[in-house]
Amino acid sequence: MNLINKIRRRLIHLRLQPIRVFCFHHVSDAYDSLTMWECDWIQTETFKNKVIQLKESGVEFISLQDAHYKLKHDWIRWKKYAVLTADDGYISMLNILPWLEKQQIPITLFVNPAYILGEDNREKGTSLTLREIEKVLELGEGNVQIASHGWNHRLCSEMTMQEFEENVNRCELFFSQYKKSYIPFFAYPCGKNTTQHDKYLLTQNIVPVLMDGVKNYNDASAIHRELLV
Ligand SMILES: [Zn+2]
Repeated sequence: MNLINKIRRRLIHLRLQPIRVFCFHHVSDAYDSLTMWECDWIQTETFKNKVIQLKESGVEFISLQDAHYKLKHDWIRWKKYAVLTADDGYISMLNILPWLEKQQIPITLFVNPAYILGEDNREKGTSLTLREIEKVLELGEGNVQIASHGWNHRLCSEMTMQEFEENVNRCELFFSQYKKSYIPFFAYPCGKNTTQHDKYLLTQNIVPVLMDGVKNYNDASAIHRELLV
């Protein structure tokens, strides 16, 4: 990196506070080795404490859509913002959604239509059903949004570009019935993406969402995420 770029990056970081976008999966009181990967699990109290800690340190939780708007338009951002996102639409979300609602903290659920429709049985019993998702969206009153995690959690690296495009488009068609709650963001299953995939999403006005541990400053072409704990 040359000196001018280094100075430019430093200046961006000085005038813009980062927006941290957190990702998590299961949140429950106890770990269940039959239905969870240990690295995908957070104890409910730990989750709540982390959120409270962030709030007490001056962080304001906003929706993913608001975060994207700020990344696109802010020239100065003195305040620290954070976003909560959960992948795979696990039923254990029901353990925290009422609490988040009480705190007025928005959340985006990245879901796979094949799981919630029961078309793919691999997450049967652990994934929210269509009826549960609809109830969550209704009770969330705008604080809960849904976005795409691919039709069936197939890794992008295992699909041809044509298959990926069909997968994305099938999701869009499904989500079009949830106009009030759906936001056009795509979280890659297991965070696997390429610039070619990103480019396709952007042509469809869908924002790529990555899992790379990076904080967001002023790049609205993709959302970077880190694990909550
Ligand atoms: Zn996933």
